[in-house]
Amino acid sequence: MRRGSSERELAARWEAEAAAEQVLVDAGAAGEPERGAGQEQPECPAGPQAQPRAAEDGGARVPPRPLPTLSPSQPKPAPERGPGPHGKPRSKGRSCKRSPGRRSDENGSPRPVTVDSSKAKTSLDALKISIRQLKWKEFPFGRRLPCDIYWHGVSFHDNDIFCGQVNKFPGMTEMVRKITLSRAVRIMQNLFPEEYNFYPRSWILPDEFQLFVAQVQMVKDGDPSWKPTFIVKPDGGCQGDGIYLIKDPSDIRLTGTLQSRPAVVQEYICKPLLVDKLKFDIRLYVLLKSLDPLEIYIAKDGLSRFCTEPYQEPSPKNLHHIFMHLTNYSLNTHSSNFVHSDSADTGSKRTFSSILCRLSSKGVDIKKVWSDIISLVIKTVIALTPELKVFYQSDIPTGRPGPTCFQILGFDILLTKNLKPILLEVNANPSMRIEHEHELSPGVFENVPSLVDEEVKVAVIRDTLRLMDPLKKKRENPNCKLSSSSLSMAAVDILYIDITRRWNSMTQDQRDSGMCLQAFVEAFFFLAQRKFKMMPLHEQVAALIDLCEYHLSLLDEKRLVCGRSGMAGGQPLYSGTPQETSPPSQPAGDIPPPRTNCANKLSHPRHTLS
Ligand code: ADP
Repeated sequence: MRRGSSERELAARWEAEAAAEQVLVDAGAAGEPERGAGQEQPECPAGPQAQPRAAEDGGARVPPRPLPTLSPSQPKPAPERGPGPHGKPRSKGRSCKRSPGRRSDENGSPRPVTVDSSKAKTSLDALKISIRQLKWKEFPFGRRLPCDIYWHGVSFHDNDIFCGQVNKFPGMTEMVRKITLSRAVRIMQNLFPEEYNFYPRSWILPDEFQLFVAQVQMVKDGDPSWKPTFIVKPDGGCQGDGIYLIKDPSDIRLTGTLQSRPAVVQEYICKPLLVDKLKFDIRLYVLLKSLDPLEIYIAKDGLSRFCTEPYQEPSPKNLHHIFMHLTNYSLNTHSSNFVHSDSADTGSKRTFSSILCRLSSKGVDIKKVWSDIISLVIKTVIALTPELKVFYQSDIPTGRPGPTCFQILGFDILLTKNLKPILLEVNANPSMRIEHEHELSPGVFENVPSLVDEEVKVAVIRDTLRLMDPLKKKRENPNCKLSSSSLSMAAVDILYIDITRRWNSMTQDQRDSGMCLQAFVEAFFFLAQRKFKMMPLHEQVAALIDLCEYHLSLLDEKRLVCGRSGMAGGQPLYSGTPQETSPPSQPAGDIPPPRTNCANKLSHPRHTLS
């Protein structure tokens, strides 16, 4: 992990080294709770008007250049929610002892990581497979003692958690609602219009109706040949619910629902990239591993969801053809043209890598496409970060017991004909279902496994768990956090060697090997300045001393912790506190693309995260 590095470096992929091919005993699988078909649809933003339906859609939006400096506040040297005692629970909830290390049992085997899956809802099946592959221990009904990881299907508040890690950030669902995301992105568009031009121009209804009318008229006056189309999307909606296309602001259905259910109206992208003459979008999975420092990982593979009617540019005649214009799985699955396929590169739902593979065979620079997508993801998360921090502070105030958070987000992206990625929305709860409904006879459905979903989603969950392995953190950096903040450990090693050599060559007495005191002071000051920017030197040094003392105190804990080999590793796509990190500039051309090996995709379900 690095900060302040080029985007090329930042784009290092989320790559777990070992494919967990062995299917192992599910230690906690007995008595899995029954789930009825059609239960909660996690991809829906949980707004009051949200209309749950089938799997694979979801809800959100997105802008350019010197990257935003976000909160200027400097994190305290010692992580507020670092591993270690969390204190007592507030009122109800689980008692919280020391953050559990991987202690050995009586036989000397390392204790498996424990996962509470009792609130996992529709991600349960994929989660179970992932836990089995990792040889971790699942608690499907919860546990009296604390677990290492809590997997929630809907929100941070699904359960009262006071320690461990939970797979939701407070406030994320609110932040990616259509209106909130539009607002957050617009702030950035106003500051950095070039950098944030990947999000269609949008207006919030009913508040900005007059502005919408006036701005459209202004552009039309300047360019009478402009014949725009707009898409109206109710706030908090998902799966295409309530969406319609219009050619003119006067077509907006202002009466009735709009007052009670605000909406976003945005420019419709009329020239999307087509494959087999069909419009499609991309669902990419992004792990927000930490807010401070900001750490983002992006899955190497995602899903492409296809329309089921050949695309034509919008005209008054076809505006209502939802199977032509909306890529939502939940809508298109009702079309008689929908093709369920177990192959990754055919049918109405395919892997994104299969699309890239196809584009590559036609000479498209898919590295560029991929790096543009990475930029889009980073900038979008940056736009959301300030408010997310406010939510975080309010739910888990500094110094109070609370869990650490991570979250898998679903990014819905459209590629234009010119291969420019456009953000459609962000989903706080992307569907993790790995089955689809099959209609046996009219009105009679059964759930059947979907291999394409399983290939992509199990890899996403499994690698997320690997990255969040609480014991891996301790093993990697038992006494120094510098590698995960401003400098890599390799860079610290080089610094050590350089300064030591220089000082040793200056001093007469070279009996002592290692670093002399002066060299140590120089190195220490240098590190303090790198780590704690924007402070007077004495405060930087004091902060680094605090940090070192904190991590030294963890050494005691470390003695109780047994390391484990063979865990997943990876580098974040983006890591850094905003004030310490230069903005992601235009993507470097040599970022490795996602794996695009078209052959045998399904027979080799190796992890596919980047
Ligand atoms: P929902 O949350 O209801 O799925 P989306 O914002 O994802 O809402 O929009 C639904 C679908 O409409 C998308 O999957 C995409 O196919 C299409 N769509 C949305 N916004 C645009 C746009 N600005 N231009 C072109 N197509 C769009």
